[in-house]
Amino acid sequence: MSLTLRTQIGIVGAGPAGLMLAHLLRLEGIASAVIETRSRGHVETRVRAGVLEQATADLLVETGLGDRMRREALVHGGIELRFNGAGHRIDFQDLTGRSIVVYGQQEVVKDLIHARLESGCEIHFNVAAVSIHGFDSAQPRIRFHAGGQPREIACDFIAGCDGFHGICRPSIPAGALAFYERVYPFAWLGILAEAPPASGELIYANHERGFALMSMRTPAITRLYLQCRPDEDLDAWPDRRIWDELGTRFETAAGFRLAEGPIVQKGVTGMRSFVAEPMQSGRLFLAGDAAHIVPPTGAKGMNLAIADVHVLARAFRSFYRTGSEDRLRGYSAACLRRVWRAQHFSWWMTSMLHRVGGDSGFEYRRQLAELEQVTTSRAAATSLAENYTGLPFE
Ligand SMILES: Cc1cc2nc3c(=O)[nH]c(=O)nc-3n(C[C@H](O)[C@H](O)[C@H](O)COP(=O)(O)OP(=O)(O)OC[C@H]3O[C@@H](n4cnc5c(N)ncnc54)[C@H](O)[C@@H]3O)c2cc1C
Repeated sequence: MSLTLRTQIGIVGAGPAGLMLAHLLRLEGIASAVIETRSRGHVETRVRAGVLEQATADLLVETGLGDRMRREALVHGGIELRFNGAGHRIDFQDLTGRSIVVYGQQEVVKDLIHARLESGCEIHFNVAAVSIHGFDSAQPRIRFHAGGQPREIACDFIAGCDGFHGICRPSIPAGALAFYERVYPFAWLGILAEAPPASGELIYANHERGFALMSMRTPAITRLYLQCRPDEDLDAWPDRRIWDELGTRFETAAGFRLAEGPIVQKGVTGMRSFVAEPMQSGRLFLAGDAAHIVPPTGAKGMNLAIADVHVLARAFRSFYRTGSEDRLRGYSAACLRRVWRAQHFSWWMTSMLHRVGGDSGFEYRRQLAELEQVTTSRAAATSLAENYTGLPFE
């Protein structure tokens, strides 16, 4: 017989979306249970996104999660676009009055896990065989195995925060959702290196050989990416080849040089745009990557995940305070406005910066014309800056 735990919100997934939702709900006095298939160590060391929009960083501070971020994060007032061997700064502060905060996703996750455990609430890590049931009724259930034993969570609502490959979205009956998708014919080979960033701000480079991005996690750790094929074989990329290729793509007439150091992590990330609509089915609400994916060029994935659960937490608060389901019914539409804005921006950045196979040269020249405009027209630069630093939360 399975042991049943009763709560208000059952949360599937302890990534940024699930953990932030649990945190916001706890501040509202709403009970939740979080289950996660991976170990605590795994989720706390999973290196993914690293750029927080101003509104995301502000929310972390407002909800008591800002201490370590304020000490360790890097605040950036702009980014550099590099093409034709020269860099051009987009000054976010001047154009919008806003900044971005460079703080690794795994650090946000660590802070959220710490806050939840400190408050005496649990996270069920290492669970298996997760399934969800009854979300078309008033008695949804989450079933899973923990320590080999069957367990069940009985709840009022389920939040599907289990990422793109999770089980919540596929549990919704066929035909209830519409999917909008674009898969790009290139990917990113990403490395984490023990080397100081060669510049104080992120550099987005469009080179004839392909896109490259220099980002950072701390003053001693650089995160670098190279455009590659989706099926790229990492074995064909010894460290020397990676540094040489990065050196070529970031070269400037002024002799820019990357600082090199030991590569401590390597991986290939595919590029996809995806939206499931609506982000809700009965008493199941999808949030974050479970509902949408953006190519990482616009640094929007984690920010969208946090924005979704901010809307969802408010909708739950309204339900438990007033009994009204209006905000829950409006959840999907409220999120999708921001999601499609981010989709457009991420697609636009991606198409401006990546080389497409088989291009006769037309695309490359079109991109250079676009980059020229973005870096010389204040109106065009402002549009990039507004989108990159992000919309305020509603
Ligand atoms: C490989 C990768 C690299 C990325 N790199 C970048 C980047 O460089 N820059 C950038 O801006 N963005 C990047 N992103 C995007 C960004 O990291 C995501 O948008 C962000 O993680 C979304 O948060 P989330 O909580 O919605 O989903 P996730 O972070 O995916 O969290 C979902 C959680 O659910 C768990 N889970 C899955 N299935 C189940 C289940 N059945 N039951 C319980 N738990 C389950 C997962 O283990 C995971 O912990 C990357 C994403 C990926 C996948």
